[in-house]
Amino acid sequence: MQTSAAISADGKHWFLLEASPDIRWQIESFAALGPPAGSRGTSIDGVLLTNADLDHVLGLWSLREGGPLRIHATAAVWNSLVHGLGMDRILGFFGGSRWLEAPWEPHALSLSGGEPSGLLYSAFPLPGKAPRYVEARPGAAGDNIGYRIEDPRTGGRIVFAPDIGAVDDTLREELAQCDVAFLDGTFWTDGELEELGGRSAALMAHLPLGGPEGSLAALPRGQKPRRIFVHINNSNPMLREDSPERAELVRSGAEVGIDGQELEL
Ligand SMILES: [Zn+2]
Repeated sequence: MQTSAAISADGKHWFLLEASPDIRWQIESFAALGPPAGSRGTSIDGVLLTNADLDHVLGLWSLREGGPLRIHATAAVWNSLVHGLGMDRILGFFGGSRWLEAPWEPHALSLSGGEPSGLLYSAFPLPGKAPRYVEARPGAAGDNIGYRIEDPRTGGRIVFAPDIGAVDDTLREELAQCDVAFLDGTFWTDGELEELGGRSAALMAHLPLGGPEGSLAALPRGQKPRRIFVHINNSNPMLREDSPERAELVRSGAEVGIDGQELEL
């Protein structure tokens, strides 16, 4: 399915990382995201967005009946949602939405009632681009970010970066300090989707994994962090378990993310 993850410090209150077009099936496949016992409510306390591409945000419309929907995003992403998609206006006819600006410094991630969730979060900028539906405007800082999420009780820390336009020092520093990283696994080569009639990876601001310039070569190797590639396009040959690309990925010590994967840190 499309990229989405859910995080929680207590197993009761959850935050979604992205709201993908597959959100209904993703929620139904994980019972903890359903309503708390005996209620018609939700266990989802908010959604954290890394960018405003449709594959990251279309699920927000499916969540319209709860609310107000707490959406954590940069000003640039919120601006795309509001001016490019009219999202706040449309959701306003239902449960409404509330924007919470993603912090650049670690900050308590709070529940809808204001209590701390037990998790800390911060955003860091990543090379990327504005979504196609607002491409007329100049790119803005914050169009694409990664998140660092930490549980201070356990010290466990993840990085969530499903869209990586290029590997820079900021990303390298974040990776050096985390236990598990969810990384952009969209394409193996720049031209694989173009050959099928789509756009190139570069035009879509996804650094492909393969080749000497690819993310597999540019990202740190070794035991830490555990590197899990997500957001994998169906043109990416590493999806096939018997492909040479999969063998190369496994040799590098990285993993292909799978639907339903659970981790405890
Ligand atoms: Zn994406």
